[in-house]
Amino acid sequence: MLNIFDLKEKYDIIVIGAGPGGCKLAELCAKKGLDCLVLEKRQEIGAPKRCAEGIGKEHLLNLGFSGNEKFILNEITTGSILYAPNGQHIILPIKNNKTGYILERKLFDKEMASKAALAGAKIFAKCDVVDAIIENDFVCGVEFEYYEKKYKIKSDIVISAEGVEAKIARNVLNLPISKPDEIMSGYQYEIENIDLDNSHRLEFYIGVDISPGGYIWIFPKGKKKANIGLGIYSNTKHTAKYYLDKWINTKSNLKKGSVLEENAGAIPVGGLLKKMTANGFLTIGDAARQVHPLHGGGLYESTYAAKIAADVITDAKLQNDFSDKFLDKYNKIWWEKRGDELLRVNKIKKCFHKISDEDFNLLIKSVKDTHIANIMKGNVFEISKIILKNPKLIKFSKYFILK
Ligand SMILES: Cc1cc2nc3c(=O)[nH]c(=O)nc-3n(C[C@H](O)[C@H](O)[C@H](O)COP(=O)(O)OP(=O)(O)OC[C@H]3O[C@@H](n4cnc5c(N)ncnc54)[C@H](O)[C@@H]3O)c2cc1C
Repeated sequence: MLNIFDLKEKYDIIVIGAGPGGCKLAELCAKKGLDCLVLEKRQEIGAPKRCAEGIGKEHLLNLGFSGNEKFILNEITTGSILYAPNGQHIILPIKNNKTGYILERKLFDKEMASKAALAGAKIFAKCDVVDAIIENDFVCGVEFEYYEKKYKIKSDIVISAEGVEAKIARNVLNLPISKPDEIMSGYQYEIENIDLDNSHRLEFYIGVDISPGGYIWIFPKGKKKANIGLGIYSNTKHTAKYYLDKWINTKSNLKKGSVLEENAGAIPVGGLLKKMTANGFLTIGDAARQVHPLHGGGLYESTYAAKIAADVITDAKLQNDFSDKFLDKYNKIWWEKRGDELLRVNKIKKCFHKISDEDFNLLIKSVKDTHIANIMKGNVFEISKIILKNPKLIKFSKYFILK
């Protein structure tokens, strides 16, 4: 056995993956007195990052942080700017004091793990879960690899918080492979010594030529430093790096910088799962494809789902019932609280993908910042009203109203 770890043969919960979702779930369950084991395959939690590191201030505070933590590098106090393909832009100011933060994810993820550990969860890095143990149609533990040796540990329930790879979740839930428009390829540079117009504002650029199916972002981490990246459909002609390099090379204020880090990662957008549970098994976060389909953010979604799942698991422990039937509560609550909204957002995303650059230029010229906020919330009815009120936009009704 792994005596240095002093691991038990059985835990109440085994969580696969020490990302924000897995750690939040372990923290909440440990606080309720459940015995949690978190297994993380990477040797260092949080590294390498696969994130532009943006999060709403409100969301971060809801995770139990004060806003003064060292992992907060910058506050986005002047909102965002969205550039149309022709360079025209719309300013999206901060409303109701809802600012955002740019984090240092390596530190943030570790802090999330510390919180879980201090609440009583056991966490181990470098433990790659290779399989689920299934007996009598129930998932009842995992097999993991540590320094080329395999070990088995049992549990009442296994949580897949594995992120986008979702190897175990795909096997247990028999998930289909994501369609090309359900998975974005992301590529990003962290660049120092660049010139930014405003280091407290996010920048977004859209256009079929520069970022097919997605957008380019600039998320400032400091006065002269930013994450500059893009997400594109996974089946485009060129790689995400190709498109990003091509774009940065047209920007003299950016290409003068020094690259501190390169990151690549996939983002599961759309492809939401109706069913995220099985007997003795539940999945959250990127593994469950719980990502905002339009902007690709998943920090809020994974930790929000973790809170729902923690409540259901605590109940399951009290009732000693980890059956799929009991865990179905999680599917129901998540769909009611988040799924239906994200599904509507996904429908809007699909409409946007049919719009040409020329039409996008027209749209940006005609919409107001309040319209964008409604679009981000999946409010199709509001979009229909906007279109019907504005004769210039009537041509978009075929995308948004007739659907
Ligand atoms: C380029 C890019 C930019 C992004 N920018 C943002 C942003 O600005 N804001 C935002 O909110 N979201 C952003 N996201 C999305 C965000 O990073 C994810 O949604 C979030 O990290 C999901 O958290 P999670 O806990 O579900 O999964 P993850 O953070 O991916 O954590 C999963 C963990 O599981 C581990 N794991 C996987 N398989 C196994 C296994 N078999 N055994 C053990 N461990 C395993 C992984 O190593 C990983 O540590 C971005 C994503 C990308 C790719």
